[in-house]
Order: sequence, then structure tokens, then C-alpha cells
Amino acid sequence: MTNPLLETWNTPFGLPPFDLIEDAHFAPAIETGMAEGLAEVEAVANAPEAATFENTIEGLMRTGAVLDRVLGVFYNLAGSDSTEKREEIMREFSPKLAAHSAAIYGNRALFARVEAVWQARESLDLTPEQARVLMLTHRGFVRAGAALEGDAAARMKEIKGRLATLGTTFGQNLLADERDWQRALSEAELEGMPQFVVDAVRAAGEERGADGPLLTLSRSVIVPFLQFCPNRSLREEAWRAWVARGENGGTTDNRNVAAEILVLRQERAQLLGYDDFASYKLETEMAKTPDAVRGLLMDVWHPAKAQAEADAALLEERMVADGVNGPLQAWDWRYYSEARRREEFALNEAELKPYLQLDRMIEAAFSCASRLFGLEFRALDVPLYHKDARAWEVTRNGKHVAVFIGDYFARASKRSGAWCSAMRTQRKFPDVQAPVVVNVCNFAKGDPALLSYDDARTLFHEFGHALHQMLSDVAYDMISGTSVARDFVELPSQLYEHWLEVPAVLQEFATHADTGESMPQEMLDKVLAAATYDMGFQTVEYVASALVDLTFHEGAPPADPMAEQARVLADLGMPESIVMRHATPHFAHVFTGDGYSSGYYSYMWSEVMDADAFEAFEEADGAFDPAMAQKLERFILSAGGSEEADVLYQKFRGRMPGVEALLKGRGLAA
Ligand SMILES: [Zn+2]
Repeated sequence: MTNPLLETWNTPFGLPPFDLIEDAHFAPAIETGMAEGLAEVEAVANAPEAATFENTIEGLMRTGAVLDRVLGVFYNLAGSDSTEKREEIMREFSPKLAAHSAAIYGNRALFARVEAVWQARESLDLTPEQARVLMLTHRGFVRAGAALEGDAAARMKEIKGRLATLGTTFGQNLLADERDWQRALSEAELEGMPQFVVDAVRAAGEERGADGPLLTLSRSVIVPFLQFCPNRSLREEAWRAWVARGENGGTTDNRNVAAEILVLRQERAQLLGYDDFASYKLETEMAKTPDAVRGLLMDVWHPAKAQAEADAALLEERMVADGVNGPLQAWDWRYYSEARRREEFALNEAELKPYLQLDRMIEAAFSCASRLFGLEFRALDVPLYHKDARAWEVTRNGKHVAVFIGDYFARASKRSGAWCSAMRTQRKFPDVQAPVVVNVCNFAKGDPALLSYDDARTLFHEFGHALHQMLSDVAYDMISGTSVARDFVELPSQLYEHWLEVPAVLQEFATHADTGESMPQEMLDKVLAAATYDMGFQTVEYVASALVDLTFHEGAPPADPMAEQARVLADLGMPESIVMRHATPHFAHVFTGDGYSSGYYSYMWSEVMDADAFEAFEEADGAFDPAMAQKLERFILSAGGSEEADVLYQKFRGRMPGVEALLKGRGLAA
């Protein structure tokens, strides 16, 4: 049987031949890719010649081409158009691929060669990009534990295994607590709540086979319930159950799990030669040090807390007018805040939507990219993986830049959320390769398809990631496009959202589906005001969580994480009526894996940068200032991970980002 995944693709732009690929082709192609990749790595590791940059670092980059190509297609299909077969392949190959990667990083002969090139780096006359990929390759091996020997290597293996188990346990305990708690609601207890909340608790009851409506801890049930339930003692009961997830005693209690995770992370960091886990984690980030993270968070904390306290006073007034004496409690905030929002900042979604047609918003995103970077978009008629997906050729001055695929509509086979991925990344080594970039969203279908304002922002956000991939201009795919630090990767995407808010853009593209008229200014003002509502609360609950996460991973691990959490919050002077967005026993970002541990701050770090970066345009000649656009492309969008993120940012902005623009954007500036 010929397998199209393993053949040369003689298709327009070398796109995957989607019309020929069948699910049965994936497993054998991945097996072949892994086997070939491993043989290629062995050849690099055991080469008879002395190690050089070319035969070792570039040699490694030549390996695994088949696997990369096959997985580029497979992961995209598994996420955007899953089938039972594709899920089965995913389950089968996740552990195999993890073992494949561990085998490469654990190859001692290979690491010895990488180490030899690293030691000789000063005498090699490398280009800046080559020096960068050498450093990243070497660091990747060291951080994976490749330099450890004997007992230390054995202990590292043990720690990694135990941490993986504990992370899974943490997540499963949380899920069990969310699944097991429920409370029957009487008809009388439904009074005063809007129909959609009543429908949600009835649906929850039906789903669990109860006689009547049920309150559960599923986010889509509990949050609206806390926003709309007028019965204060019922709100308190619901809120207490919600914040107790992972902290209920018994076999699903996460407090000891969290404590053990923190101890093992510290040991792992020290085995690798770092002072503590935060230093290990932040080394690869733009922030680099715990002090830099804390400095930024505290700059935001003080104004946010002041705003939250001012808002709390207003909400308490409402509560007293309701006949309830203070103080305002955590189970009151969402309820009175929602009432205030309805009165002061209400947006009529039904009136807004006809102005936000999907096709017009795609045009808007393309048009901004044309004005900023001279890109042009031409619809392509090529076979794709689903009939709803569309493709465009992206060119500049008549030269091919990329293929952009937009897959915008929700369907049962698509995972939720929105994302950008590359089926093929930009590179020049070992061959010149133009990127194939995909944006996947979950918008509702319609004729014409209409978006909410959040949807339109998502479209611009993902297109910002796509520009980072499409404008990438580096030699090696290891540092191409979005292969940058976690606290830097959201800069291009969040920054691009600002162009949606440029009045001229909305005026031209937010036109009514029936009348063709532009969105009225008054509606636009309301949209923008609604976006910053309740930011004091949201910032306080977020920053408190980020600071607790950071403190946990600095210095010696706490013997009792709950006591440490209480101490951090007391030092901050946490407002009485607000709690952490995620308390330790249910802080899944930090404890189900390593991704966001001592990294929860990175959402705000990126937001500080995007606000600061857009301000650079405003300080110049406005949103389309050509000199700023050129700098943005040169130092950020085309540069990928070719230099440290802070260096790139300073080249673009002339300085490091300050928090002022973010505070203004969130309505928190004094
Ligand atoms: Zn993003």
C-alpha cells in the first residue's frame, strides 16, 4: 500500500494531499517517522568524525523530518476534526512519542558531542543565529538532565516519574470533587433567576438522573448561579462548596499532594544546579528572575486593589439598599456586580451582532495586515481536510509568503477554544520552506455568520499568532515563528487585538448585515467600556494567585502550603470580599503539570507588553505608523526566538515595557 503521508507532495505550495490521506495512513507513517528519526539521531551520535556545529547541531536538525511532517498534519486534524480513530491513534502514540523524545535526550553519546561543540563555541565563528540554536540545544539537554550521572541521574528519573503521577492525581482529585458535589434545588429556590440559569440547573439535574434541578460545581453552572441567585444563604452554601474543591479531606484532598509536588520540584531544580524551582523555570522566560515577576505584579497590585476597594464600597451600598447588612462577602460580589453591570454597562448583544459579520471581520484582519506589512491575500481553491476550512495564498510584492488556512466554524469533532498552529513552519535550513499556518475557531454558523465582540477579538488574536508564523524570517525552524518564551508568545496575538478597536477599522468593516451601515459610535463606546468592567476584582483575584504561585517556588518549599498561602495573602492585605482566582488545592495550572508553575504571571506579563507596544504606535503617527510597523516586523514578528525576548522587545520599543499602558487599558490608572 502506498502511503501518501510518506510520498513527496506534488501539490500546490506543497500542501498535504488532504484528498488522499486516510486515517489508516497515520499509525504506520508515525511508526516509520519515529524509526527513521531515531536511526538518523544514532548516526549523528555515533559519527566517527570529531563533533562540529555542522555535523552535530545542524545534523540533529536534519533528523526527524518525516515525523515532523506527519505529526504536523496529524495534530491539526486530531484537534480540529477528531474521529474515534484519530483519538485512538492519539492515545496509542502519546506515550510512544514521549519515550521517543526521552530516548533522544537520554542518548549519552549524543550529549557528549553537543557538550563538545558547546565547549568549543568561542572558536567556532558562528553566526548569531547559530550561536543561539547551539545554546538552546545544549540548554535543552542540560535541563532534561542529560548531564547528570550515577545516583543523580537515577534520582532525577525517579522524581520525574513521581511528579507525573502526582500531577495526574491532583487533576483527578479535583475532577472527583467537582463531580461528586451536588445540591438539589426546590422550585422556590429558582425564583428570581433568569431563564438561562434555570435551564442550566434543570439540564444538570437531568444529566445526573435527579428528580429536579441540581446545582453542580461545573463552571458553566456555578458561576451564573453566583451571579444571579438572590438568596444570600444559598449563594454562601454554593460558594463554600466551590472554593473547597480539593480541600475536603479524605482521599481526594489535594493539600498534601501540592506539598509533595513543591518539595520534589525544588529537589529537581537543585539537582540541575539551580537555587530553586522558580530560577529554573524563569531562566527560559523573558522575565528571567522572580524579582522581575514580583516587581511587575506589585506595580499592578496596588492600583488594582484600590479600584477593587472602591468597587466594593459601591456594591455594599447596593446590598444595604437590598436590606442586607454588611460587610460585603465573597459570595456577594458576583451577584451585586452583575446587577451593577446590567444597569450601567449593559450591551445588547442582539443589536451588536449584525455589525460583526465573520467575512467582514476576516477582511478587516487582512486589511490591517496589508496596511501594516504590505501583505496580500488571495483565496485558493485547493483540497483541505474539511469543507468549512478555507485557504488563502499570502504574498508580498508578488512573492509567495505563506498559505493561511482559516477554519472558523464550531462542530462536534472540533476541540473547544481557538488556536493557531503551523502545519509547516518557516525555515531556510536544510531547505527553504514557506509556512502553512492554520487558525481554528469555534464560531456559530449562520447566513451570514455573525460574531459576538469576543469572537471578533478572538479572530484578531489568532491572526496575530498567524502573522508571527507567516512573517518569520530565520534560518532554523527551532527558533521559527512562535518558538519563543511562554511569557512572550502572546505578545503578537494580544497586540493585534488592538487593531480591532481602531475606530477607522470598525467604521469600515463593522457594517450591518442588512443595511450596510457602519456601527454607531455610541455602540462602539459601550463595547469598549464593557470590556474593562469589574477589572479591579479580576486583577486582584488573578494577581493574588500569581504571587502565591511565585512564592511557592522561590527558596525552600513551604512545609505547609496552605499556611504559606495565608501568609502571602495577609501580607498583601487581600480585600475581605475577594479570594484567589485559584486557591492552592484547586490550582490546576500550577499543580497538574509544569507548564504554568511559577509561570501563572505570564498572562499579565504579556498584557503589560501588548498595551505598552500598542502605545508605541499611538505615540508615533497612530495605529498604522509605517516606521513602527516596520520595527514590529523586524524585531518581533520576523525574529522568532533568534534572540532573548527582552532584547527583541527593547530593540522594538527602545526600553523595557512599563505597566502604565496596561493600567490605563484596564481602567485602573489613577
Ligand atoms: Zn494566544
